[in-house]
Amino acid sequence: MDKSSVALARQPAAVGRQVQLSGWVRTRRDSKGGFSFLELNDGSCFGNIQVIADGKLANYESEVKKLTAGSSVTVSGEVRASPAQGQPTEIHAETVTVHGGADPETYALQKKRHSFEFLRTLAHLRPRTNTFGAVARVRNCVCRSIHDFFQEQGFLYVHPPIITGSDCEGAGQMFKVTTLDLGKLPRQGQAVDFAQDFFGRPTYLTVSGQLEAEVFACSLGKVYTFGPTFRAENSNTSRHLAEFWMVEPEMAFYDLHDNMDLAEAFLKRIIRDVLQRCPEDMQFFNERIDPAVIATLEGVADSEFIRLSYTEAVDRLQKSGATFEFPAAWGNDLQAEHERYLTEQTFKRPVILYDYPSTIKPFYMRLNDDGRTVRAMDVLVPRVGEIIGGSQREERLDVLERRMKEQGLDPEAYWWYLDLRRYGTVPHSGFGLGLERTVQFVTGMGNIRDVIPFPRTPGNAEF
Ligand code: ATP
Ligand code: MN
Repeated sequence: MDKSSVALARQPAAVGRQVQLSGWVRTRRDSKGGFSFLELNDGSCFGNIQVIADGKLANYESEVKKLTAGSSVTVSGEVRASPAQGQPTEIHAETVTVHGGADPETYALQKKRHSFEFLRTLAHLRPRTNTFGAVARVRNCVCRSIHDFFQEQGFLYVHPPIITGSDCEGAGQMFKVTTLDLGKLPRQGQAVDFAQDFFGRPTYLTVSGQLEAEVFACSLGKVYTFGPTFRAENSNTSRHLAEFWMVEPEMAFYDLHDNMDLAEAFLKRIIRDVLQRCPEDMQFFNERIDPAVIATLEGVADSEFIRLSYTEAVDRLQKSGATFEFPAAWGNDLQAEHERYLTEQTFKRPVILYDYPSTIKPFYMRLNDDGRTVRAMDVLVPRVGEIIGGSQREERLDVLERRMKEQGLDPEAYWWYLDLRRYGTVPHSGFGLGLERTVQFVTGMGNIRDVIPFPRTPGNAEF
């Protein structure tokens, strides 16, 4: 008999088929009629399938009647139309093979609802809960959409290094990579002698694959990267991880407006795919996590994003009459409270802010003619705030070198990046989308630690 899945067996078309299903028991209920109902889940979809285990099964008394939540089984039998409400099909078991029990005295996932905080201490078991199963499927769907979107448009998937010698953001919040003995560091005078380290120089975990993506965009046209990214920022917020996944498209011959158009189409595509491919999971998020999430996503998929310069945004925030913990002021980075005000109060939809002050953005963003703003763009969405950060890149060698020096960076160290401007320079643009913030946005989940399998945050790397 073929191995099947709960997802397939739950479809009305499966009625009459013999199937073999393997998974974990969510609940067991015994009927007075001398048989039992098992709710079986195998992760293939949100819903369980009801298995009817007859008292005549050889192992009914010895095993089936002892099954508890979390036990693993393989069931074979026929799919029948179910007389019960809310489930099209059920399985009439001919055999139930028990693989492993789960002692209810010690197994932590009993039927009651657990807090997400508690479940974070059980990162190895939480994928067995409704919420984390749904998050895992939606996260997978988002990743598939990301690849589909770019592949369909002729982008090449490129792989920048994870260990890097350059600090893309110039912010210095990087994890060091070393094989030196920390108890016995080799010294050159006072300083650590990195010449003796594995790579013969200081190296870090990447904060962004952008500079390397630019190399490929400036050779092959349209590319994207998609991989893990690391930031050693000590921020304990619901939107920051020390290890997260970022998608970074980079396109030659794209200006900032092309970049905005791409970002908007990209986000809408992800949203439409999730609504279409994960209806059951999304229904769950709408019922249990955020009662507005589906309506919000449908609204975003169908509306045009607002495009507003940073200067206009600051002006609007100042004139809004709202009180903020940090009043908005030209020249300061916008706070999450400002981003949320714009998307949730002022416009009630995503907002793309552009042309930020040069002083608060990295050296590689293209300087505007006003000399004080750069062609940056941030895409802000309700609840989450910044979900995408991007820019048109500075393609003029002299301006780029000047900006590096202004920000205290040594152009020599970026000689290969500058070569892209020395030889056949082109206007180009790109952006970075945080995968976890995207999953937060589409699911309505409040904390970023609950949308990545094993979150890395300050003080936490248990699993
Ligand atoms: P923020 O201001 O919110 O800290 P950022 O400006 O540092 O973000 P970028 O460098 O523009 O972020 O990175 C691009 C995208 O990567 C962000 O828009 C966000 O979606 C995501 N991102 C950035 N930092 C983190 C983080 N620590 N954890 C999770 N996602 C992140
Ligand atoms: Mn940003």
